[in-house]
Amino acid sequence: MSLLISIVCPMYNESAGLDHYFKEITRHLDQIGHPYELICVNDGSTDNTLKLLQAKAKEVEQTRVVNLSRNFGKECALSAGLSVAEGDVVIPIDADLQDPPELIVQMLEKYKQGFDVVLARRVSRKSDSLAKRWTAGMFYRLLKRLSKVQIPENVGDFRLISRRVVNVLNNLPESQRFMKGLFAWCGFPTAYVDYERPERVAGESSFSGWKLWNLAWEGITSFSTVPLRIWTYIGVLVSSVSFLYGAWIIVRTLLLGVDTPGYASTIVVVLFLGGIQLIGIGVIGEYIGRIYMESKRRPVFVIESVTESPTESLSKGENNVVT
Ligand code: UDP
Ligand code: MG
Repeated sequence: MSLLISIVCPMYNESAGLDHYFKEITRHLDQIGHPYELICVNDGSTDNTLKLLQAKAKEVEQTRVVNLSRNFGKECALSAGLSVAEGDVVIPIDADLQDPPELIVQMLEKYKQGFDVVLARRVSRKSDSLAKRWTAGMFYRLLKRLSKVQIPENVGDFRLISRRVVNVLNNLPESQRFMKGLFAWCGFPTAYVDYERPERVAGESSFSGWKLWNLAWEGITSFSTVPLRIWTYIGVLVSSVSFLYGAWIIVRTLLLGVDTPGYASTIVVVLFLGGIQLIGIGVIGEYIGRIYMESKRRPVFVIESVTESPTESLSKGENNVVT
């Protein structure tokens, strides 16, 4: 059975580890023996990643360089890569090889057993800092509670997905793309392979605390309307307590007469309700913002140039950089 494997790698300022990436990935894929294409998405790198990639494309004929017009972020870069991938199976992978390519063999085995999705699950997060592990754990627990789509824990974007799943993903119209969630949303028969996540081989992680927080917030607001709906319940609770308190004041005034001017209680209630309302408006605003973004129907990415598929260029005997 001939099976085209597409490896999709988003790259942002990855020049330091590029040689290592190509060496390792080609070594493993050559061993497997199936034809493959290496889709490298340059996500608006500010270093010479693009130049190096174009040089690599001349050297390694399976390489296809997708150059985005600016930095769109990993999620969009991944979507761009999936949209040009032609493989029967597609494997998104990180350029820093924190996703070990030796797992690809096991993933393919599971695929041949009939699974459309094979997830690489980290058995330990030793390479991540304590804070990152702790916040990631909290995030997954929260998301599990809030969302109907079960987003698997300790699973990154490193996975094998079959052509069917890729087609579904490519046809999703939404432009706010939280890929982990969208992958999970697609469903299909799913299997796991376990691994231990090593340290980055070169360069630095571009996901700072703030970026991760934004990603987490994106995940929650894309996949749950609980933050919006919860205000209804809080509102009902607060107003019923206020109502009871008001009734109590009236009864007390009727029975005992006016005591103090009641300035303190009034101002506390007004401020408290004002605060609640402001937070509520803020959350509603968040979702209205999303409706606004979606209604614009902006494309998820803009590709500046794409190289031809290796199979075509092989038959034509050209190298595959198109400018
Ligand atoms: N990446 C990207 N665009 C960005 C940031 C990162 O394409 O704006 C790529 C990066 O080149 C790498 C992958 O996303 O291939 C994962 O990034 P990183 O290793 O920095 O994240 P971490 O492993 O710390 O989660
Ligand atoms: Mg990494």
